[in-house]
Amino acid sequence: MQRWFRMAVAIVAIVTGAVASLQTDDSQAPQKPSAVQGWTGTPPGSEAPLEPKPPATVKEGEVWIPPLPAIDEVAPPAGWVTSGPDVPPMPLTLLRLPRTNITRAKFPAIDVHVHAPQLTTAAAYQSLIALMDSIGTGAMVNLNGGTGPALDAALKAGEPYRDRVATFLTFNPDGINEPGWSEKFAAEMERGFKAGALGMKVFKSLGQSIRNKDGSFIQCDDPRLDPIWDMAAKYNRPVLIHTSDSIGRFYPIGPKNERYEAGLWRRAGDTSENLSVDGPKHEAIEKARENMHRTHPKTRFINAHLAMLYYDPGKLAAFLDAHPNGDVEIAATLQDLGRAPRLWRAFILKYQDRILMGSDGSPSRGADEFWRPHWRYLETYDEYFYHPAQIRTPGGSPGHGRWNISGIGLPDAVLRKIYYQNALRHLPSLRPSIERQLAARGR
Ligand SMILES: [Zn+2]
Repeated sequence: MQRWFRMAVAIVAIVTGAVASLQTDDSQAPQKPSAVQGWTGTPPGSEAPLEPKPPATVKEGEVWIPPLPAIDEVAPPAGWVTSGPDVPPMPLTLLRLPRTNITRAKFPAIDVHVHAPQLTTAAAYQSLIALMDSIGTGAMVNLNGGTGPALDAALKAGEPYRDRVATFLTFNPDGINEPGWSEKFAAEMERGFKAGALGMKVFKSLGQSIRNKDGSFIQCDDPRLDPIWDMAAKYNRPVLIHTSDSIGRFYPIGPKNERYEAGLWRRAGDTSENLSVDGPKHEAIEKARENMHRTHPKTRFINAHLAMLYYDPGKLAAFLDAHPNGDVEIAATLQDLGRAPRLWRAFILKYQDRILMGSDGSPSRGADEFWRPHWRYLETYDEYFYHPAQIRTPGGSPGHGRWNISGIGLPDAVLRKIYYQNALRHLPSLRPSIERQLAARGR
């Protein structure tokens, strides 16, 4: 520690000296006008983004939480067109910052959010398990089990690997507007649970693309879904549900939308998965989710991606407080959590019994660019590192955040909960496997 402190003091001295010498040099040089008009400063009333002003009731020094920007504030000016498909590559950082050497999760993590529809052969399972061993993952949940013959094939191929890979059946809304759909699908769930599916995945299409006959969106509190949630409760199987979307997707496409800046929708005419024009409002999806949790207290829900509420930690806290049957997992959120590491560390410590590890990964994801940054974020205090991007532009930039993140150094007792203890509440049949792996690692 002392050596580290002396080193830091030395670094500060070097930096201070360098700045001083720069200033000296600068004062001797004649002041040159900037070659580029408008680059010299920030005239009042310019387009510089400013922190919102608090209401008059907030005293000097007090902390407040600004509201989301209005749609109009993010919307591009009339006639704006995309600046083209080229997203700048991520710059290589020139900062010499401490880096923890980390290749495997400290404890055998259960990743509850993996998409592996290709798991239909022994070879596919074996290659995934080799990947899991190299990154220290204890078990994964394959959310793409499907239904019918596809589910049967997945369960059959996965039988010898059930200690490492759990299969969830996949919610299928085909025919939801026809009479008798609820009973039919609930029966298929029952068949799947009896055959070995350990839970069910619901995709975000519920709430933002599946429609009633009149064109309105079907939300998760629709009465036709009551028998579905009840069937999960009857077999005590969790429902891993993804509803709502990144908040940027509810805002217009334009340079002030940070998801656009990162690379989404750069291609001319590309509005894929942008919900600002004819999608549902995120408030409507969030309200339906509240209703569903409240009216099905015996059903255990695991809300994917922190319920997509990571844009508003206060809202997420209120949700967790109100619904003891609704846990959350962290898949595809690190790009956002990692830019407010102190806040999220405190949040995760407070809600340590409600949060599961998830990644939204698949067997084709790379260890260094995808899996390992998860461990770096959760386990270390490393700062300003490349996050596990869910989407990359052709030049390699992360499409959900063209920025870097910092870690939260969780203590071991909390890491154990996030990595496997909370997941074992939902997936108790994995316990012997995780305990065996802990023992083998001497942990
Ligand atoms: Zn996913």
